Amino acid sequence: MVPWTAGQTAMVELNGVCKTFGKSMVLSGITLRVMPREVVVLIGPSGSGKSTLLRCMNALETPEQGEVYIDGVVLTGNGEKATGRAAVASPGAALHRMRAEIGMVFQQFNLFPHMSVIENIMLAPVRVRGLTREQARRKGVALLGKVGLEDKSHALPSSLSGGQMQRVAIARALAMEPKLMLFDEPTSALDPEMVGEVLNVMNELAEEGMTMVVVTHEIGFAREVGDRIVFMEQGRIVEEGTPAQLLEAPREERTRSFLSKVL
Ligand code: ADP
Ligand code: MG
Repeated sequence: MVPWTAGQTAMVELNGVCKTFGKSMVLSGITLRVMPREVVVLIGPSGSGKSTLLRCMNALETPEQGEVYIDGVVLTGNGEKATGRAAVASPGAALHRMRAEIGMVFQQFNLFPHMSVIENIMLAPVRVRGLTREQARRKGVALLGKVGLEDKSHALPSSLSGGQMQRVAIARALAMEPKLMLFDEPTSALDPEMVGEVLNVMNELAEEGMTMVVVTHEIGFAREVGDRIVFMEQGRIVEEGTPAQLLEAPREERTRSFLSKVL
């Protein structure tokens, strides 16, 4: 059952993750594995804990209980004690190194407004990876080609459409050569006509074998691109399965009820 005994280490593994804010328990014992090259789509009502779960996967949030492993190394939690596996705790430098391997794309693009597109993309590879500016520029230009924005290198973010900004944000994340990409409602802030161009880039990324965890309400994308869909409610995983299984034949009434509102 456990992936590492089957010879393959999960890219993301959460064991009994619990997270509270004040008195409210936002994640109530989440156990989930994402295998390399897998695309897992998280769906669920607003406030069900999807963003918090995603943020636990790159240590933007620290769970009070449970462990998070990335590619077999503990990111947060007391892994060694809990599982007996040799787990390097990840304070300071080690944590930074791990986070550098995890790309995250948010609903709000979070580009630096005073920097050109190419400078936005070059920043982290130069500062964190130690690339020369020339190396980072070459990589950035190639990535802009990949997301269909080769002509926007010197544009300021404010001159771009939302769909273009989100594609830049994806290129910026990819510039770090992440082994895992997390997307938190990447198309929710976009005008409808721009949703497709962003989903297309994500689709290509998935086809290239990127491991992805995607929070989205785009059920079409979940069906076409997702290997697995996870339905969350009130900080718990209610049900998970292949898109065909979860969308066409959900086992749980709560899943059916949610799907009837979004489909
Ligand atoms: P979702 O992404 O599914 O809409 P979230 O993970 O954003 O859900 O939030 C789950 C719950 O946790 C919500 O009730 C939200 O108000 C609460 N929450 C999220 N982040 C914080 C925070 N930093 N402080 C306090 N409460 C929070
Ligand atoms: Mg959210």
